[in-house]
Amino acid sequence: MGKETLKFVIVGHVDHGKSTLIGRLLYDTDSLPEGKIEEIKQICEMLGRDLEFGFILDNLEEERDQGITIDTTQTWFRTPNRDYVIIDAPGHVEFVKNMITGASQAEAAILIVDVNEGVQEQTKRHSYILSMLGLKQVIVVINKMDLVNYNKKRFEEVKENLLSFLKDINIVPSEIIPISAKEGHNVAKKSEKMKWYSGPTVLEALSKFKTHKENVEKPLRFAVQDVYKREKRIIVGMVESGILKVGEDVVVLPSKEITKIKSIEEFMKENVLEAQAGKATGIVTENKVFVDRGNIICEPNQLPKITNSFKAHVFWMSKDPLKNKERLNLKLSTQESAVSVELIKIWDSSSLKEIKNKDQLENRQVAEVLIKSDKPIVIENFNNIEELGRFVLERLNICAGGIITENGG
Ligand code: GDP
Repeated sequence: MGKETLKFVIVGHVDHGKSTLIGRLLYDTDSLPEGKIEEIKQICEMLGRDLEFGFILDNLEEERDQGITIDTTQTWFRTPNRDYVIIDAPGHVEFVKNMITGASQAEAAILIVDVNEGVQEQTKRHSYILSMLGLKQVIVVINKMDLVNYNKKRFEEVKENLLSFLKDINIVPSEIIPISAKEGHNVAKKSEKMKWYSGPTVLEALSKFKTHKENVEKPLRFAVQDVYKREKRIIVGMVESGILKVGEDVVVLPSKEITKIKSIEEFMKENVLEAQAGKATGIVTENKVFVDRGNIICEPNQLPKITNSFKAHVFWMSKDPLKNKERLNLKLSTQESAVSVELIKIWDSSSLKEIKNKDQLENRQVAEVLIKSDKPIVIENFNNIEELGRFVLERLNICAGGIITENGG
């Protein structure tokens, strides 16, 4: 098995040190392209300046703009156990859109705050976005500790202030780390200057976050795509999470009929005993329960929520606005149903200001909505099992992406 990859985003107020932290992470993990650091050292010397880690990022970005590197939105670094991808958050609208539609999905976030400036306008806005997306894996770094002589008291002040703000919007960071991105304290290496801090470094804290790929360890969810009737009746679908195992009891949702997996059927393969998350496969059940496209087959002791109404966040992507309570078609994994969409709260996705008029949702606006579906739908929190927590809404074409941030199971 290849190494797993965690995707995360760094957010914070302008000039609080995002680029510098990215440069530092790349440098300290030896992830920079050969010769890059020398090149940048030379440039800095020429300019008569200290080495600026932020330059590393600018320099990489320039190359990307010139089409030299392939990937335009992602920066990689490697550690012995895991690879990381830092996802660009170029602007609020794109970030929110990418997260909700799944175009690029951050699994975790670092919120960076300058110790001298504390909580600022964009610190707040970015935190709102994280909160709206229900992102649970968040660490906070208090940066530029070198400018306050690595003073514990200053750190504690900013920390308390920030925590009380984050608490109000339901964000509980797993760690709050005093760092100097510029000098490299508590990023990859423990700081000698901050012996008073006993918590993890940024890299250690990141290593504790779970990736979506760890879906194998989650409860079984098998989304049925089709049922073929040949000499055997083969139920074809996608293992969205967990592991399908021959001989195990399963429950078909929404009917709640119980059966056992008799065999796993794969083309040109015999005696397949299990199929893991991410695999499209076929199964034969012991008894002839009713199964159809859109059913979700689960393990009996860990059932997800089945419901006709749930709250979600949607990003509207059509020039024709969504009218309050309009009826649309919802697709969630292999499930499909006619739904009505009730607008609860609307934000401008650029300013994140709340919009008072709730009659309709315009292009590129974000809303909290209540979805009422004609058929019962199996749902999960999208931070838990993304595949069953993400959906699209259609008129004739797709007009919105949505995520479910309430508790599924
Ligand atoms: P961004 O706008 O959030 O990407 O911020 P930058 O990374 O460009 O940093 C803004 C300024 O703060 C630059 O001049 C950096 O050199 C400086 N800076 C960033 N991190 C630190 C730090 O840990 N200590 C000090 N003294 N300066 C820093």
